[in-house]
Amino acid sequence: MKAIVDHSLCEGHAKCMDNVPEVFEVREDDRSYTVLDEIPEELRARVERAVKVCPRAAISLEE
Ligand code: SF4
Repeated sequence: MKAIVDHSLCEGHAKCMDNVPEVFEVREDDRSYTVLDEIPEELRARVERAVKVCPRAAISLEE
């Protein structure tokens, strides 16, 4: 599974990074970046939660 952040929507609230710092990193430009290309199965539930709590619905998942 891959996570993709749409930078035209992301506003850097960092709720994704709060939930899964192993996967999401908010940088100086106030945009979230994925630091893992392929998300391990054991992080799936937390990444799915990050998708739900993102206030801008900026994260999508690709199997
Ligand atoms: S929670 Fe959503 S809007 Fe906030 S930094 Fe993460 S991807 Fe961007």
